[in-house]
Formats: sequence, structure tokens, C-alpha cells
Amino acid sequence: MTQLPPGSVLGIVGGGQLGRMSAIAAARLGYRAHILTTEDDGPAAQVAHAITLGRYDDHDALRRFADAVNVITFEFENISADGLDLLSSIRPVHPAGHILRISQDRIAEKTFMAENDIPVAPWRGVHDRADLDRAAQALGYPFILKTTRLGYDGKGQVRIHDADGLDAAFDGLRPHPLVAEGMVRFACEISVMVARNARGDIVTFDVTENRHRNGILDISLAPARIVPELAAQARDLARRIASALDLTGLLGVEMFVDRDGSLRVNEIAPRPHNSGHWTMDACPVDQFEMHVRAVTGLPLPPASRHSDAVMKNLIGPDDMALWPEIVATPGLLAHHYGKAEARPGRKMGHVNVLFPKGALPGEFGVKAALGPLARPMDAT
Ligand code: AMP
Repeated sequence: MTQLPPGSVLGIVGGGQLGRMSAIAAARLGYRAHILTTEDDGPAAQVAHAITLGRYDDHDALRRFADAVNVITFEFENISADGLDLLSSIRPVHPAGHILRISQDRIAEKTFMAENDIPVAPWRGVHDRADLDRAAQALGYPFILKTTRLGYDGKGQVRIHDADGLDAAFDGLRPHPLVAEGMVRFACEISVMVARNARGDIVTFDVTENRHRNGILDISLAPARIVPELAAQARDLARRIASALDLTGLLGVEMFVDRDGSLRVNEIAPRPHNSGHWTMDACPVDQFEMHVRAVTGLPLPPASRHSDAVMKNLIGPDDMALWPEIVATPGLLAHHYGKAEARPGRKMGHVNVLFPKGALPGEFGVKAALGPLARPMDAT
């Protein structure tokens, strides 16, 4: 693939914060971001060169969008197969459609992992009620039942503790089929951001340790506090996944560190990822620039880190009530997504806190550094 020259237009499907931060990175490299979005004043539209307003299944909007750009990427991956085919028939699309189809569907994702010897939690596809009984028998209680599509931030999944919970879970989760997963007794959750360009060059950022609250990412720590051998294994898994997918673009790989010391991949997201936001302040080239470079055919510099970092998400009205204090606190590097309405559970922004490399503090130090945002760091 040839390099896209400065002045070219990068088309981004999706108008949220990931599109906003990708558009800002694109502008820094001399590109213009054109956003396909359903909101004319959303996070990405506010910083973009141009937008096409339309739904992701509106073929007329998709056609107008594709005609106006040089290359197409995503911040939102749940676009229909038809829509993807249409976009791909007009312009290069990175990551390619087959990657989105895998990441959109948990059964396709787990099948891909199995075919490539990537470790995952034990799982069963659940197409009907009898499948669920068989899955319960095979996996044992408790286990997790998930929708195959459109689950995010802990939505679209239920923990089942005993046989009495089977009917309600099966009826409550739609659409079918579903996927049943054995519970991983994890020591911690980690993720790796990997970028690969069309020449096959691959870089991985340092492993991130992630803590959730109410099913939503709350805090990321970089680097993850795991032994170096495990970190190397995690990066190797991410590299293997990117190669096996023939990825052009950026991919977030979420993994569990099992208490037995092994790694299991939970899911992949072929786009910038919330758990990679720490790279914006702790790395010379962050995940968004790496994303833009990968899809525009630029070389990929090393994904090096000059500082240790803690990222804290700003969620809903409670965290945003602290915004005046956040911007007044030295050391809190604040990122606002430009969303007008701070609804409960909505990601409104994040802060990064940097520490000298090798000096990521323990719980107490992290809490102290978060100042007005300090909360007990227990995961829920
Ligand atoms: P997901 O939507 O698959 O990313 O799941 C959301 C969260 O649920 C994960 O970040 C984990 O904290 C938890 N979770 C999901 N699957 C499993 C599993 N198989 N075992 C243990 N915890 C899980």
C-alpha cells in the first residue's frame, strides 16, 4: 500500500470519543478526518474536517461518505455486513470486513481463536434451550451467558449460579444464539494494543492492567503489574492474533490472567480501545496516531513508553461534577469528550496521571495521585 499524502481525507465510521481522538491524531499528521455519524454535534463531529450525517445502515449515506474520502476506518464496529460490502466496493477499508465480522460475533471470534491456538475460556455455542443445559453440564456453575453480538460494558451478559437461573437468562438475553462461557478465576484483567500495517510491520504497546466498576472500565495501569514473562506472552498473543487476521489497523486484545498463571483471551476490538488511552500522555506515539499511521500506510514507529501511567475514566454526572477540580489539580491530564449530557454510566472523558518510568506506585500512591477522583480501587 502506498502512503496516503498529507491533505488526504481519512473516513471514520462512528462519531464518538474514539473517532474524536483519532481525528485529532489524523490532523496532527496533516490528514483531514471525515466522520460518518448519527449526531451532528457529537464528540468526533466537533473536531472533524467534515461529516456525513446518516445511519450506519443507510446506503445512500454510506455511498456519499465513501465518495468523499480516500480511505475508511472505524471507531464503531457494529456496521452491517451489507454496509461493509458497500464501503469496500468504493474505497479501501481498514481493518478489512472479515476482521469486523469476526469481532462482531462472539462465536465467530472464539472459533477464530480455536483455529489459531489462542487460549480462551471454555465455551459453548447456545442455539436453543437444550444447548444451554448441555453447556451448564459441561462448564459447571457458575458460568456466564452472553449475547453473541452488540454486548459492551458488561451489557448483554448474565452470570448463572444454578439451574434455577437458566430459564430467565435464556429468555432475557436476545437475540439468540448466545454463548456460554466458563468462569475464569482471574488474578487480573489485562489488554494489549497491537498495530499492524499493510507491509506486515507489527508493534505492541506495553501491557495494560484494567479494573472495572459496574461492568465499565474504571482504571487502567501501565505497565501491568505482572511478571515480565507473562507480559511477553501477552504481547506475543496479540501479535499472533494481528498476523492471523492479516490486520491493517489497530486492535485491542482483552485477556484474563488466570490464577494458575495462564493467559486467556476474552475479546478483541479492531479499533482504538479505552484501555489504551494512557498512551496519549505516556508514549511519544499514542494508540490513535498508531491507528492512523497503520491505516494510511505510514511507517509504524516503536510503541515505546516514556512514563508509567494511570488512566481513570470519567463516568456520568458524578465524575463530571468534579471537572472544575480536575482541571485545577496539577498532574491530572484531562481529556474531555465534548458530550453535552452526562448520563449515568456514560463515558464523558478520562484523566491520565504520569509517573517516572519504573515508578508506578501501589494502591495508596495511585489513590493519592488521583486527588479529587480518589476512590477505593477495589474492582467490582
Ligand atoms: P466482556 O463483555 O466479555 O468484556 O465482559 C465484561 C467483563 O465481565 C469482563 O471484563 C470480566 O470482568 C467479566 N467476564 C467476562 N467473561 C468472563 C469469564 N469467562 N470469566 C470471568 N469473568 C468474565
